Amino acid sequence: MKLRYHTYDLQLQHTFTIARESSDVSTVVFVELEHDGITGYGEAAPSERYGETPDTVIDFLKKVEIEKIDDPFLIERNAGYLESLSSKDYSARTAIDIALHDWVGKALGIPLYKMWGLSPDDTPKTTFTIGIDTPEKIKEKVREAEQYPLLKIKLGGENDEEILDAVRSVTDKVLRVDANEGWTIREIALEKIVWLQRNEVEFVEQPMPADMVLETAWLRERASIPVIADENVVTLYDVPRVRGAFDGINIKLMKCGGLNAALKMIYTAKSMKMSIMMGCMVESSVAISAAAQLSPLLDYADLDGNLLITNDPFEGVMVENGRLILSDKPGIGVTKKGGT
Ligand SMILES: [Mg+2]
Repeated sequence: MKLRYHTYDLQLQHTFTIARESSDVSTVVFVELEHDGITGYGEAAPSERYGETPDTVIDFLKKVEIEKIDDPFLIERNAGYLESLSSKDYSARTAIDIALHDWVGKALGIPLYKMWGLSPDDTPKTTFTIGIDTPEKIKEKVREAEQYPLLKIKLGGENDEEILDAVRSVTDKVLRVDANEGWTIREIALEKIVWLQRNEVEFVEQPMPADMVLETAWLRERASIPVIADENVVTLYDVPRVRGAFDGINIKLMKCGGLNAALKMIYTAKSMKMSIMMGCMVESSVAISAAAQLSPLLDYADLDGNLLITNDPFEGVMVENGRLILSDKPGIGVTKKGGT
């Protein structure tokens, strides 16, 4: 088994602003695992919100003794080995987990969705994200997003009303809202949610800070649109902790440690009758196509990280009329652009 990795700067089409940060470039780490003549691709998109940077990813990858992963098919054992090196370093572990899954699918000659018994006919539509901006810029971005029927609007800042008014002035599409922990007083958060309902918003993601679970439960009792957990649910172990406070969870590969962990989170949440969303960071088609393999199991998809960038070195899952289209290529279903 050989492990190779390198950093890569994903260039964003627009400066991407959410409640806590703003960026033009997002650095990811690509990994390749080569074994028995097959190469599996993986990607880490580290987030400072969860204590990771490209440097911490590289530090983690240097710690991996790759000879300890001698059989990619041993998914549980391999995930256990990676977790034994660090219970955090989520995106770094995810990069290897994705590459191992890609390798397994390629060795079997089937896409991962087939391995999990899922049909590509059951994929959902994905939202397209509109970051925080001035009303004029927001209108321009909404017009540019013409081909996407579902929009996710980032709120949680000073000018929420201005932003939503700008969006609604140019579209009557289904909207989902992500406050990214931006509302810190429960009564104000409730007023915001009532206002979202009036503006025909389908659900709200992470209205309050992750350490305000009790306040969020209070809010959810009074809200008539679903409240979805993002920052409150990082790994599998967080799913039972948010029962009663949220209606659903937003799983991201880069938070949870990879496809193996995501699959467990999906069934754990389903057992509690919570709805399932999958989201992403700014990522290339490697990580997005990996997540999309699970998308037939989702209630809501927000897998647009690769649609927000201009220099994706890979191609994989496509989007047609907003819907995720999985290919029949093996593994995570990606190829390098201009190559194999
Ligand atoms: Mg979110």
